[in-house]
Amino acid sequence: MKAFVYQDICIGCGACIAECPEIYHWNSDNKSEASDQEIPEEQADGARAGRDVCPVDAIDLK
Ligand code: SF4
Repeated sequence: MKAFVYQDICIGCGACIAECPEIYHWNSDNKSEASDQEIPEEQADGARAGRDVCPVDAIDLK
């Protein structure tokens, strides 16, 4: 599983980063960016929690 943040949808609220900084981090546009690595099993719940707190549904997990 990998996480994707749609840059055109993200409003830069920081909720996903606060929820799961192991996966989500700020980029130079002050938006969230996801790790491009395969998400380790032990971080999968955090990645989902970060997606679920996003107020604009900008995060996809595939
Ligand atoms: S929670 Fe959603 S809108 Fe907020 S920074 Fe993360 S991806 Fe962007």
